[in-house]
Amino acid sequence: MDKQIKCISCRYARPDKASSDNSWTAYECGNPQSEFYKSLLNVRPDGNKLKRISWPGCEHGERRLNG
Ligand code: SF4
Repeated sequence: MDKQIKCISCRYARPDKASSDNSWTAYECGNPQSEFYKSLLNVRPDGNKLKRISWPGCEHGERRLNG
């Protein structure tokens, strides 16, 4: 089994247009295998919107092949 990777390096992290606004892009987990499926990855528990994906990741993450 692969070592856990961070969401920012995971190929399942994807933009979520419905949750984004004009000045901010939301990212969500797009992996149905993950318990975090459809969770927003760049929002703090207090609701603060972050530019970068901050979530630590999960055991179902897979590293992107490019970039
Ligand atoms: S929660 Fe897991 S599967 Fe989802 S984007 Fe992060 S590392 Fe990838």
